[in-house]
Amino acid sequence: MNAKRIAVLPGDGIGREVIPQALRVMEAAGAPVQFTEFDWGADRYLADGVTVPPDGFAMLDRDFDAIFVGAFGDPRVATNVHAKEILLGMRFKMDLYANVRPVRLLDSSLCPLKGIEPKDIDFVVLRENTEGVYTDAGGVFKQGTEDEIAIQEDINTYKGVARIIRYAFEYAERNPRLDGGPRKSVLLCDKSNAMTHAGGLWQRVFREISSGYPQITPKHMYVDALCMQMVRDPRQFDVIVTNNMFGDIITDLAAGLQGGLGMAASGNIHPGRTSMFEPVHGSAPPIAGKNVANPFGAILTGAMMLRHLSLSAEADRIEAAVLNAVQQKKTTQDLGGALGTREASEWVLARAQRV
Ligand code: ATP
Repeated sequence: MNAKRIAVLPGDGIGREVIPQALRVMEAAGAPVQFTEFDWGADRYLADGVTVPPDGFAMLDRDFDAIFVGAFGDPRVATNVHAKEILLGMRFKMDLYANVRPVRLLDSSLCPLKGIEPKDIDFVVLRENTEGVYTDAGGVFKQGTEDEIAIQEDINTYKGVARIIRYAFEYAERNPRLDGGPRKSVLLCDKSNAMTHAGGLWQRVFREISSGYPQITPKHMYVDALCMQMVRDPRQFDVIVTNNMFGDIITDLAAGLQGGLGMAASGNIHPGRTSMFEPVHGSAPPIAGKNVANPFGAILTGAMMLRHLSLSAEADRIEAAVLNAVQQKKTTQDLGGALGTREASEWVLARAQRV
């Protein structure tokens, strides 16, 4: 098999610690992959002012099978302009409209809720990734005066809403639960009682599309109620579809159920095109460079990318090794272990290795 070509952007902060470890684990697992690293990030921006080189996104799309990203954010770049241009640029300009964030509990000890076992948490959040309030549409008027007005537009197009909702139903059909059982429901999360115009579009399109999937139960919750339900009874969730901002927020909450930001993986996907995979966490400046960041979110993101590239055997081996590490407390401190980033990764690498 030809090696899959992967563009690697470790980025800033802990991205530069966890991504190299995840690459080593993927190689050790025997995945036929060829990594090409890019230095896009704060250092490069501070050195020559470049965030994304000319033709950058077209090159990623043209020359690679997938993109593996760490995190962008650095206190030296107060505007965060490089993060915006690289990360949001990739999502928007490469039209990676489906942000897929699986939420799985590997071990009961990782969940802050009482009496919850791994089988109880196995859902996925599908976040619209190219519209909403993240397009930076809007403006300010009379800035710096007491009459200042700030407007942040919430963009919702029929096309954008329809394709993420359809993706959610297709996802439910094609991706069984970890126990092998079928996914039975897709839940729309919105705030249509207060945000009536955008909410009305989501509600109408959800009704339209769900009627084409009679075997899947359509459900609905307002985002505020959903936050409460997620901590009261996370067992009830299967597939959740929502807009860009609510997806951003509820997946941090969901990450809390599975052991924190250090455990959460994500994909930014446009079916049939070069897609991008990144851990849910950011650059975490307070812990960067100290060998304490949890590498498992990045390693599990690597497994997710391999699965997307039809390398399921390698992905299975990596996920099993991470599960083993969690069960045996061979983890970083955020999960209650005593290992550093490198040491926890080494432990997983040794078990994910193809023999
Ligand atoms: P950014 O601006 O890049 O989003 P941030 O610090 O605002 O960075 P995160 O990086 O997502 O946001 O993290 C918030 C906090 O969560 C971190 O400061 C850290 O304490 C914790 N955290 C995040 N990722 C990890 C990780 N991989 N391992 C351990 N702790 C983590």
